[in-house]
Amino acid sequence: MNKTLAFIGCGKMAQAIIGGMIQSGIVDRKRIIASARTEETRQLVKKTFNIKIEGDNKQVAKNADILFLAVKPDVHKEVIDEIKDYVKKDVIVITIAAGITLSYLESGFHNEVRAIRVMPNTPSLVREGMSVIAPNRYVTTDELDLVVKLCETFGQAEVMNEGLMDAIPAISGSSPAYVYMFIEALADGAVKQGIPRDQAYKLGAQAVLGAAKMVLETGKHPGELKDQVCTPGGATIEAVLTLEKEGLRSAVLSAMDVCTEKAKALA
Ligand code: NAD
Repeated sequence: MNKTLAFIGCGKMAQAIIGGMIQSGIVDRKRIIASARTEETRQLVKKTFNIKIEGDNKQVAKNADILFLAVKPDVHKEVIDEIKDYVKKDVIVITIAAGITLSYLESGFHNEVRAIRVMPNTPSLVREGMSVIAPNRYVTTDELDLVVKLCETFGQAEVMNEGLMDAIPAISGSSPAYVYMFIEALADGAVKQGIPRDQAYKLGAQAVLGAAKMVLETGKHPGELKDQVCTPGGATIEAVLTLEKEGLRSAVLSAMDVCTEKAKALA
């Protein structure tokens, strides 16, 4: 990787991506630069990742081969106006923001800018992220391949049509939050039964990790895997009945609907 990777904004999501990339051993930290607005963030990022970090967005944008816009959606206009005259002609601009479209990037930079939407999630920090990638028509196959490989340094990556991108925050960008809530709930339930809290988190988290791996690695339908846990007349099916009665599935679907609507409205 002989490209300079630049991040405008170095908050939670950028730090997760940078952390995952560095841990992979594939991306050299010397190839990563970032800008952050506050001295506190600059010091934290420098101390944690030992990368070059600046206060000046233009300086960072100028050197970028691949430029990540890692600020909130409503800050994109201000940032693009600030840096658009400084980026290299063939820079690849990636936004990780919900709701920011490829045509928005094209009109913000120039009509033929190589633009990509990537929707990542915070497990990127431990190299178990999920990134969904949608390029515009100016991104070549080799460039897309490079960005996919880059995203794979911090997890899994899937390329999709831009038309599906607004649906991705609910299933991928935001969903770790629901899973953490589920793990907390599992742990609370275990504590209620007398299990020490630290061990309860470990047991709950490992159950989620293991179940997720079963889905990904066996290729079996989640319903089939659930059925394998439910002994006829046993305890698990009683728990399943209670989750159905309490509306677990419809709660998740409703949450994803509101998440999708909100994500669309953020830009
Ligand atoms: P964050 O608030 O942690 O980080 C944003 C950073 O941008 C902050 O450090 C802020 O100081 C900085 N910033 C604000 N204005 C700036 C400017 N003009 N120039 C430079 N830096 C500026 O937010 P986050 O959670 O890291 O989210 C960043 C983006 O990532 C958002 O667009 C969000 O939609 C997207 N995203 C986040 C997640 C997640 O789980 N957090 C998941 C997927 C996508």
